[in-house]
Amino acid sequence: MSKKEDIKFIKENGFKAFKPERSSYEDESGQKWLQCKFCCEYKPVDNGVAAITCSHCVTKIDMIQHPESFQTKQYKPTGRPAGWHWMAEYVDTDGNVFHRGKEQPELKGTLKPTKVKPRKKKKKLTADEKLQRDLKNWKKRKRMKRKQKKK
Ligand SMILES: [Zn+2]
Repeated sequence: MSKKEDIKFIKENGFKAFKPERSSYEDESGQKWLQCKFCCEYKPVDNGVAAITCSHCVTKIDMIQHPESFQTKQYKPTGRPAGWHWMAEYVDTDGNVFHRGKEQPELKGTLKPTKVKPRKKKKKLTADEKLQRDLKNWKKRKRMKRKQKKK
């Protein structure tokens, strides 16, 4: 069977019904080896097993059949402020009430959403202000040095 035909067969009949002819052999210790029905890799098997799917292919099939469970969870911004878990009481915009991060379902909708203060942005200093600040720091350091010398 060609690969194209394999895929067509699997699409029509499912993975379980797909039992292609695969080579097998027995090693010196009597262990039987069989090729994975998908990737043809040899795997040790018990006697009487007609077809196997190796763990790699099991995972691959799982991914094809259940892609949603393999999707990495996307980060959704909650709109909650940093540290809301630690607030004695926090009410989100949907009216969910939390006491120290623990949801209080019986209080839902009874309180007004907590107002979140926007974080203060640091004021950008102008070149002149920067110079002033540096000069101040420099003077301060000079004073400190002098004090230390006196001691
Ligand atoms: Zn395989």
